[in-house]
Amino acid sequence: MFKISGWGNYPKINCKVETPNNENEIQFHDNEKIIPRGLGRSYGDSSLQANKTIITKNLNKIISFDEELGVICVQSGISSDELLKVIIPKGWFLPVSPGTKFVTLGGMVASDVHGKNHHLEGSFGDHLINLKIKISNSEAIYCSDDLNSDLFWATIGGMGLTGIILEIKFKLKKIQSYKINQEVITTQNLEEVMNLFEKYKNSTYTVAWIDCLAKGNSFGRSVFFRGEHKKSKEKVTYDPKYSLRIPFFFPSWILNYFSIKLFNFFYFYFNKLFDKKEVDGDFFFYPLDKILEWNKIYGKNGFVQYQFIVPKKDSLKAIKEVLEKVAHSKEASFLSVLKLFKKGNKGLLSFPDEGYTLAMDFQANEKTFRLLKELDKIIIKYSGRIYLSKDSRLSKDSFFSMNYDSESLRNILDKYNIKNFHSQQSDRLSIL
Ligand SMILES: Cc1cc2nc3c(=O)[nH]c(=O)nc-3n(C[C@H](O)[C@H](O)[C@H](O)COP(=O)(O)OP(=O)(O)OC[C@H]3O[C@@H](n4cnc5c(N)ncnc54)[C@H](O)[C@@H]3O)c2cc1C
Repeated sequence: MFKISGWGNYPKINCKVETPNNENEIQFHDNEKIIPRGLGRSYGDSSLQANKTIITKNLNKIISFDEELGVICVQSGISSDELLKVIIPKGWFLPVSPGTKFVTLGGMVASDVHGKNHHLEGSFGDHLINLKIKISNSEAIYCSDDLNSDLFWATIGGMGLTGIILEIKFKLKKIQSYKINQEVITTQNLEEVMNLFEKYKNSTYTVAWIDCLAKGNSFGRSVFFRGEHKKSKEKVTYDPKYSLRIPFFFPSWILNYFSIKLFNFFYFYFNKLFDKKEVDGDFFFYPLDKILEWNKIYGKNGFVQYQFIVPKKDSLKAIKEVLEKVAHSKEASFLSVLKLFKKGNKGLLSFPDEGYTLAMDFQANEKTFRLLKELDKIIIKYSGRIYLSKDSRLSKDSFFSMNYDSESLRNILDKYNIKNFHSQQSDRLSIL
């Protein structure tokens, strides 16, 4: 048994852990509860199962790679970090990248991850060709948009509840350079930053950081980033550098209302100094990866990330209400990230849908949980939902008030006789 957790270090539970070296070593009984786990970068309890948690990281081979067409088939435990080292020098990139490259491709499918380009290019599930899934101890099947398509769309964003994804075939994105031409624009409030998202809706990558503690005239002030891959005739190169590792858990008092307010002030004015410049792809897509194990700065008790989406017509109103509650509570988040999504795909538990999404980090404590309960009410009032990959504390009632199609998921599991896959999260929310 090992005490493990997601990236938020909350909750931590004792789990029996297995790390198979090949597909044949993945073994379980007919009525045993198990859950697959990649690199544990989901924040909460979606990759935890006390009875048996199966870590896929050693299933990390590239099965085939058509370098002309950019079609690749990989084992699910390969990390984005491992893959980028192979594909970038050949002039290809991931069609969708979350904010860290320390995730497995299996985890990317199971969370149907989004990047800064969702408003144009959708989520990772939109770029898949097919999947091979182990649905029971004795059976693995292929699925795609044409073959066993109900299982395919239940698995995209399905949080590991439909089986262990073994193989993923998908289409890469052609690039001429791993450099990004970035533009940074600071805005004084929320309306202004949303206008920028609309104005630049044809830019490939857009994202904004919001100062969620600013009040009065600066309420909702933001730093907006947009980026395009540089056009170039030179050979594409990739030279990742990792600079710092947080060696120990910080005492929890270090991050408080005042230290975060100070950070936000400097971050806002520092970014005002830049407008247009060329940056490295790693700097643009994965800024947090520069500091390894940065999750320790929240202290031993861990933290939670609260990420929600609300339909576009009400996004401004809902986000204002949320930020007012946060500012009023004096609970502070220093990484509040806003993105624009287009309409979502057919994934039954897939998170993205048309509207704005905001993600905020908070220390895990009773005061935070009380605040987040209040925020849940706002999200439900505006017919929004929260991202299961970030969740560790939502109640079952709130989950069922959010528009996730868990009933169709249960029907599909019955149809394919899939019984084994349960996480601490799916039990907490009674998804199955
Ligand atoms: C710094 C940071 C930035 C992030 N930015 C973003 C972002 O911009 N956009 C975004 O969408 N997400 C983002 N995330 C979340 C992250 O991309 C997802 O949680 C992703 O699923 C993590 O992959 P993993 O391999 O670590 O999966 P884990 O955390 O180990 O597992 C996540 C889920 O996937 C399931 N799963 C894992 N492997 C398999 C498999 N082989 N078969 C079936 N199910 C499986 C697990 O059961 C679990 O339900 C971020 C996370 C961090 C830490």
